[in-house]
Amino acid sequence: MANILVVDDREDKLLALDSILADLGENVVKAKSGREALRYLLRNDFAVILLDVNMPGLNGFETAKLIRSRARSESTPIIFVTSLSDSERNIAEGYALGAVDYMLTPIVPEILKTKVGVFVELYRKTAKVKEQAAQLQQIIVEQKSAQHEIHNLNQELEARVVDLSAMNKELETVTYSLAHDLRAPLRSMQSFAHMLLEDYSEKLDQQGREFARRITESSKRMDTLLEDILSYSLLTHTEFEHNSIDLEEIVAGVIDQLDRDVKEKNAEVNVEHPLDNVIAHRATMQQVLLNLIGNALKFVPAERTPSIRIWTQKRNSRVRISIQDNGIGIAQYQERIFGLFERLHSNDDYPGTGVGLAIVRKGVERMGGRFGLDSKEGTGSCFWLELPKAEGENC
Ligand code: ADP
Repeated sequence: MANILVVDDREDKLLALDSILADLGENVVKAKSGREALRYLLRNDFAVILLDVNMPGLNGFETAKLIRSRARSESTPIIFVTSLSDSERNIAEGYALGAVDYMLTPIVPEILKTKVGVFVELYRKTAKVKEQAAQLQQIIVEQKSAQHEIHNLNQELEARVVDLSAMNKELETVTYSLAHDLRAPLRSMQSFAHMLLEDYSEKLDQQGREFARRITESSKRMDTLLEDILSYSLLTHTEFEHNSIDLEEIVAGVIDQLDRDVKEKNAEVNVEHPLDNVIAHRATMQQVLLNLIGNALKFVPAERTPSIRIWTQKRNSRVRISIQDNGIGIAQYQERIFGLFERLHSNDDYPGTGVGLAIVRKGVERMGGRFGLDSKEGTGSCFWLELPKAEGENC
């Protein structure tokens, strides 16, 4: 309910105004003098003030002046009530004092109700806008505090990332040293086992020879693993120089390296010439392709003849290199296989260390490229990597 203040020194007029305004259903507060009105205004907010001009003591204008001088009521609408005979002089003065309207006596009830109703409506709308503004302000304050919190969390996270990167680097250094230092004792184990088989073969019985053979085999596997770990670690430590790479030459070199395997499996390797050149780190590129083509040869069912297709496609400023095989394919966990030591097959089915694709991932990332694969279980996989196109290559 909104408050309406009616100020008149005459009780009968106050009652008349009250009964007219009762229809509006608001709270009508009656004051018999300017002073009494000011007391009400000290403690309450009003939608509108109906102020009689002719009052003993503080008249309407003096009361209006005092109402306007207080912060709480400086903009409360005032309607002066004046008689027709005084209207000309009073209306001008009333407006000068900040009146928003005036009413002439005798009052016409409908006009009074309409005018007061308009101010009550305005008061309600203003209150609503104020409330919404306060809510908005609250939201802004909350958002600012949330932003502040996010900023702090981000800073904390950044600090943690720095710490973690340092720890990671340290770990990789330890891994590198370990892999490096383990090779010497392993070599000596390998050569002693070899000597046992070569020079003491006759002194050993069948089981002794089998044990020595197993030592040789296991140490060979361990050597491959250490070599892979070293290659992986080196990718972090080496400073890369990126150059224009002749992909034809690199691919030919890699296929040459795999020649024995290709021949043994009677594999078909189709390179679709010409291959587009890329910007890359030469040794890393060799290693990446060796792993991908090696896997394409390896992960093929024994009864199937491996068939590999290698080609490039220009994609805006990049070149996509694809290696497709007709192997066993990959059903799920496609992302996972690029993680270190992640394997989907046992060593008995397909020998390996689980480092090859981790090298591919790290190598391609360090060369500023992207990688991925499309694969269907049973029918084969197509691994791809994208690298910046070498200059001078046309789209
Ligand atoms: P590794 O070859 O030493 O096992 P990789 O890191 O090269 O390790 O590969 C991880 C795993 O991803 C493999 O063990 C295999 O399960 C799967 N994989 C990789 N390449 C292929 C492929 N061409 N076809 C099917 N599976 C593959």
